[in-house]
Amino acid sequence: MLRQYELVDLVKSYDPDADEDALNRAYVYAMKKHGAQLRTSGDPYYSHPVEVAGILTKFKLDSTSIIAGLLHDTVEDTDATVEEIRELFGPQVAQIVDGLTKLAMIELKSKDTKQAENFRKLLLAMSEDIRVLLIKLADRLHNMRTLHFCAPEKRMRIARETLDIYAPLAERIGMQEIKTELEEIAFKELHKEAYESITARLNFLREQGSNLVPAIIKQLEKDMEEGGVKATISGREKSPYSIWRKMQKKNASFEQLSDIMAFRIIVDDVAACYQALGIVHSKYHMVPRRFKDYISTPKPNGYKSIHTGVIGPENTRIEIQIRTQEMHEVNEKGVAAHWAYKQGEKVVGKNFRWIQELLEILEEASNPEEFLENTKLEMYNDQVFCFTPKGDLIGLPINSTPVDFAYAVHSKVGNTCVGAKINGEIKPLRTVLQNGDQVEILTSKAQHPSPEWDRFVVTGKAKAAIRRYVRANKREQFVALGEQMLERTFKGENLEFSEKGLVGVLPNFEAESVEDIYAKVGEGLVSAWDVMKAVYPSYKQSKLGKVVKSFKVRGFGKSDKKTKSDPVQIKGLIPGMAVHFAGCCHPLPGDRIVGIVTTGKGVAVHSIDCKALERYASEPERWLDISWGDGATEGSHIGRLKVILLNEPGTLGDLSNMIARCEGNIANLNITNRTMTYFELIVDIEVRDLKHLTDIITTLRASKSVSYVARANQ
Ligand code: MN
Repeated sequence: MLRQYELVDLVKSYDPDADEDALNRAYVYAMKKHGAQLRTSGDPYYSHPVEVAGILTKFKLDSTSIIAGLLHDTVEDTDATVEEIRELFGPQVAQIVDGLTKLAMIELKSKDTKQAENFRKLLLAMSEDIRVLLIKLADRLHNMRTLHFCAPEKRMRIARETLDIYAPLAERIGMQEIKTELEEIAFKELHKEAYESITARLNFLREQGSNLVPAIIKQLEKDMEEGGVKATISGREKSPYSIWRKMQKKNASFEQLSDIMAFRIIVDDVAACYQALGIVHSKYHMVPRRFKDYISTPKPNGYKSIHTGVIGPENTRIEIQIRTQEMHEVNEKGVAAHWAYKQGEKVVGKNFRWIQELLEILEEASNPEEFLENTKLEMYNDQVFCFTPKGDLIGLPINSTPVDFAYAVHSKVGNTCVGAKINGEIKPLRTVLQNGDQVEILTSKAQHPSPEWDRFVVTGKAKAAIRRYVRANKREQFVALGEQMLERTFKGENLEFSEKGLVGVLPNFEAESVEDIYAKVGEGLVSAWDVMKAVYPSYKQSKLGKVVKSFKVRGFGKSDKKTKSDPVQIKGLIPGMAVHFAGCCHPLPGDRIVGIVTTGKGVAVHSIDCKALERYASEPERWLDISWGDGATEGSHIGRLKVILLNEPGTLGDLSNMIARCEGNIANLNITNRTMTYFELIVDIEVRDLKHLTDIITTLRASKSVSYVARANQ
């Protein structure tokens, strides 16, 4: 633990004018207040705030931040009050500590609601003073470093939250160093199996002498010298987590990842960056699509660098980043590098456009879950950069469309957009934008957001605005859907369907008009079957009626007879209608789905890209627009994998162990082919959702025993 004078010396080393007295008082205050409290590690509690303050000095933050770091847990965990802190340390420190305390008050649960609520509070506190976030990140980093002292269940929850929220936030404000460390620790916690596999294979490569890092650095140094560019070159293997991410993103195995080494060339100025790039490209073959110039177009978080991939020295594929020392500082330290002790003033988060945007989304979202979903998307995605006709730069997540672009410009533009010109040509609104596209949005006052857009937009802002509009117009949709459903139900029983018949039963359903009944059926408050029985009281139930009675959804509520109290698994269905998941495609929560009304068996749920759907192409009336409900991940679902294992002793055991450790449950396993060298199998696994299955796939891919694994969709 840092001693008092060591901490003060550290601060003074970069800020000679720092308020030494206040720092000393804060150190003593924290120590006194936390007194004999202990951490789970057995260390005295006050070692934690001191370490947090220590982390903050790495970023050369002002004494206000360091003091707030020292005091960050006092109000929450001791008898200290915000008022007392205001008196002793001034209003700025008090405000930051207050923000941090409010955040900590909500016990974090893995439940999305709590997490979302917490995230909301964090955003609001950040918008008052961005230093709240810097301290929160340092706090989280120290907690992650000491995570191994906690109980396993708590560890998982904290690690998940770190990966979902804090690492992306660190990235968003450009604090690469913190982001990377948070991710590595969380990854090791959450995917122990995969972490160990990847580390073992990296070690194996190293032992085999294929760690070429030093040799390649030497060669690149020679290249730069010959080309007359002064440069410092460093190189490293990529971290296990970034390898894992790449495997997931590219759907690739470890072997297929050719560039597991990355090199950094640091030069004196911008001109030298391009000179260095010239040397690299003229000497080595460039790998297509790997070149990115973030110097001419920096990332929205301020990141500047040139990235390229080449077949480098030793004939190995490598990644190279070229930047100046100054860019490097900013890239690693982010916001903190721009704004250090010198400024001393309050840095209001409202100056950061992205915080403003997140808050806007927050206002439009109807519930915290939706908010979290939208903002997560916002933070995670890689970026493409497009231009307005006037040349203004708009940064968007990858896979964005002209509609996303329109909403990024202004909500009004988004709400009224009718078409788009991309690089001068009229293109459909669902076109995926490419880096450098110039986009002109065509608008019309008569246009409204279309629910269809929700299927292809990717930005949180666009999604929130569209959903808000759709919610407001929901009744119309429910009416149309309800009418359709009723008609279908009546016709299915060969009964006449007429408005007149419905008028007679309005009181039965507390409805004031026929439209009311439609809306109730469409919204699922009243079942179409009940309406039919009311209109034709003497009608005897046919075989469809029996199926309705034996309503059961595979995968949840196995012993539960009351379906009403179950969490909604699928939205857009009529309650009382039988549902089953199609065996051809095994859709999982996370897959896009569509319902097909079958004869006699209710609704079959298919994934949107299932080949079986071709059969129904000419019968649009049988298609139901459905989506996964909030309760979808509460049950388990069957995911089907095709796996090719090496035919060696123990590989089958490895397979089932790995799946079990990823919390998957093998429901069925079928060896479809077996040769001297491999087994081919189909494995059905009970999983929570698509992400769970993807994690399992990636874990398996990292293993030596597995030579191929993919989802068996058809
Ligand atoms: Mn803390």
